[in-house]
Amino acid sequence: MTTGITAEDWIAHHTLTTPHAPAAHDLASNRRFTYAQLDDRITRAALWLKGAFGVGRGDRVAVLSMNDTDVFELQFACQRLGAIFMPLNWRLAVPELEFIARDSEPVVLVHGTEFADAARDVQKLASIPHVASLANGKPSDYEAGLAAARGTLEPPALDLDDTWTIMYTSGTTGRPKGAQITYRMAFFNCVHCSIGVGLTSKSRNLVFLPTFHTGGLNVYGNPTFHTGGFNVVMRAFDPAQFLALLTDKELALTHALGVPTNFLMLTQQPGFAAADFSHLQHLGIGGAAAPLALIETFGRKGVPMQQLWGMTETGPLGLLLTSDKALSKIGSSGLPPLYVRLKICDPDGNEVKRGETGELMIKGPNVTPGYWNRPEANRTSFTADGWFHTGDAARQDEDGYYYIVDRWKDMFISGGENVYPVEVENVIYQLDGVLENAVVGVPHEKWGEVGRAYVVLKPGANLDEGAVLDHCGTQLARYKVPKEVRFIAELPHNATGKILKHQLPRT
Ligand code: ADP
Repeated sequence: MTTGITAEDWIAHHTLTTPHAPAAHDLASNRRFTYAQLDDRITRAALWLKGAFGVGRGDRVAVLSMNDTDVFELQFACQRLGAIFMPLNWRLAVPELEFIARDSEPVVLVHGTEFADAARDVQKLASIPHVASLANGKPSDYEAGLAAARGTLEPPALDLDDTWTIMYTSGTTGRPKGAQITYRMAFFNCVHCSIGVGLTSKSRNLVFLPTFHTGGLNVYGNPTFHTGGFNVVMRAFDPAQFLALLTDKELALTHALGVPTNFLMLTQQPGFAAADFSHLQHLGIGGAAAPLALIETFGRKGVPMQQLWGMTETGPLGLLLTSDKALSKIGSSGLPPLYVRLKICDPDGNEVKRGETGELMIKGPNVTPGYWNRPEANRTSFTADGWFHTGDAARQDEDGYYYIVDRWKDMFISGGENVYPVEVENVIYQLDGVLENAVVGVPHEKWGEVGRAYVVLKPGANLDEGAVLDHCGTQLARYKVPKEVRFIAELPHNATGKILKHQLPRT
């Protein structure tokens, strides 16, 4: 199936219209590129991939790198060859990378020099024909390849339904699956970001979530390139640098998107209370349930926060709460963007009544056509009429606003009652000394399952189990109140910063 609409080359377009406009700034290497400069490097990268490794239409190009403007270049170079860009999670162990490489069979693995050993091991184990190094502007196979690149490129005409990227879901819920991201998904996500997030050619966005995850690549990174704006790329998240960049008057960032943990860490920085964020249009927060207390903290500081819900498989933007509603609709993830359709269904697939909780289902041009090599998952992930199962529990209020209640898989049943951990976590976040917390269901003789709260305290905080449980007891029905609190130094996070609940002990 094709749409009959070609996938346009955003960078080539901006190079025609605004060649000298700033396109990208790689902070770690302090390299800055205008659109014309970026365009030239992308063409060279494509010539190199083609000439050195024979990359052509449909071939997979795996990229194992920390955040770097080179990663975006490789993504656009893949488009110019009709190849499929495949960013890999550098926090994965060799066997995990091997699993992905066997599944996707890339022609070449381009890797940051710090991952050279892993890349060589994966190459051997998964029989990848080529590996090549990348070194954040320093001498590497990539820079040598770009410098030597000659010839002209004739990019194939790509349809919006062609696959641009395969992104393996970060695996907070099991074995990774490669979500195919088409040009159509990318395009509609950009449209939604332009309208709902307010990105324009004047936008100055900070990319700090990893670009192997949809958060770093597609919200708001790629949409900023789509509008002809400026992306500032941080190699990896660091809270002190994050605060310094957000308050840098010269840099004058307008947008940044993170997961809740990033902003919780920001509030812990010594300079946070006095920081002036007035040049920011808003901060985007998504990827996991945002603690209500956190949104209130930013609200009190006068920093607009925009809630976003999405999935790798959905482009990702699927719900958006504009920052003017951050406090009046606190807890909601907002409304679907223009071309997104949503419904909430019971386990039999019937729509629930307004206000009731069910599974969020999504349909639209932003939704993946399916996972790479996974016929069974593709059968079970979609209904016969094309609705995609999000696996998230949600409800709608009387104004039609959506609330992500929790992931279905994180829900547990205590004495026959459903408990959504996010609701309990939000109550625990109300306690001043709590930095982070996660509630999980653990087996219990009498009730089937009961809640156990894992709590990380702020430095110097003085809270004990009794205080946490007493507070929950005043705010929640008895069956929702955890039976136990365990204080730990740190919660396990994935590379994006999301809490990995399945790693928390249940025994
Ligand atoms: P992974 O499942 O590997 O973390 P994704 O980034 O695709 O990879 O995760 C999408 C999931 O993240 C959603 O299905 C949902 O459970 C969660 N999520 C995303 N945004 C929000 C949000 N604003 N509120 C609550 N949960 C969210």
